[in-house]
Amino acid sequence: MLLLNPGPVTLSERVRRSLLQTDLCHREPEFFDLQDEARKRLVAAYALDPAVWSAVLMTGSGTAAVESMIAGLVPEGGRLLVVENGVYGDRIAQIAKQYGIDHEVVKYEWMQAPDIEAIIGLLDAKKFTNVAIIHHETTTGRLNAIDQLSRACKERGIGLLLDAVSSFGAEAIDFDGGGIVAIAATANKCLHGVPGAAFVIARRDALAQAASRTYYLGIARLAKLQDARSTPFTPSVHAYYALVEALREFEEEGGWRARHQRYAKLAEQVRAGLAALGIESALSPAESSVVLRAYRLPKGVTYETLHDALKAKGFVIYAGQGGLSTELFRISTMGALDANDMDRLISSFVALLR
Ligand SMILES: *Cc1c(COP(=O)(O)O)cnc(C)c1O
Repeated sequence: MLLLNPGPVTLSERVRRSLLQTDLCHREPEFFDLQDEARKRLVAAYALDPAVWSAVLMTGSGTAAVESMIAGLVPEGGRLLVVENGVYGDRIAQIAKQYGIDHEVVKYEWMQAPDIEAIIGLLDAKKFTNVAIIHHETTTGRLNAIDQLSRACKERGIGLLLDAVSSFGAEAIDFDGGGIVAIAATANKCLHGVPGAAFVIARRDALAQAASRTYYLGIARLAKLQDARSTPFTPSVHAYYALVEALREFEEEGGWRARHQRYAKLAEQVRAGLAALGIESALSPAESSVVLRAYRLPKGVTYETLHDALKAKGFVIYAGQGGLSTELFRISTMGALDANDMDRLISSFVALLR
């Protein structure tokens, strides 16, 4: 079965085999070597200076990392502006509410791009310490254009918190040119690891001022103990095995730029193949990530019919979320997939629609 959902991904054999390594106690030096290697490779993935940036690991899915970032890196007494144009922006607003963080939400329709000029206007009109935005809004496949907002944050001394869960490892992220103070991501999307290990990459100066609103996901404690080759709780050891192997493979294959190229080719192959069958993309390629694309369901075909027919051919596609579930379906090209797989996918569509 090939997974075309946005994580967990189809594993390479190499990453799958890494799960079968020796049993490991998380209080032994062998585990801390693994933890150190994962943290080092995560910072190196975007060539960051380890004196400025720190990768903080945690056990959980991508949402754990987003929650840890929002709960910790909006300082005590801080005020957060949440940009929402999909499910994941809404999730950040819910997290802020859950922790009683003073926040405001600026909402856009899920098919719309955020109005960056208007958001910058808000930053001038009201006092905010932080802005949170989704980089790749997986709801629609839109890659939010964040660089102008990021620079505006920097000029105003506002910390940008970026949900990069479905972009880290495959899209450009300007860590040092703007106001990004932290990003949240996970092992099981563009890095091709397994679910269970997530991480925040944060500026060390932001970590030093972190708030302590949450116990298990408290980012300051996680960072401090990991820097001291320790860990507060039992981590998902096997997910760390897979993450480290996936990061080795990622580097050998040419890092995020190579992964971007590879996804871009596969996404274009699928787009062109489906367009020839009259299946339209929901967004133009220029607005979309290379990681996932949303398509309009063909007339008279329900998502369930399409899903079940493709699953019978060995492909798991993904439904639209919320109100988009009756209009869209999604195809992600992350994971160990190649051009032959996409050819077979298009042939399956041809057979189905005939
Ligand atoms: C996948 C994803 C998440 C995390 O979802 P989990 O179910 O916790 O893995 C968060 N943000 C975005 C943009 C995502 O695509």
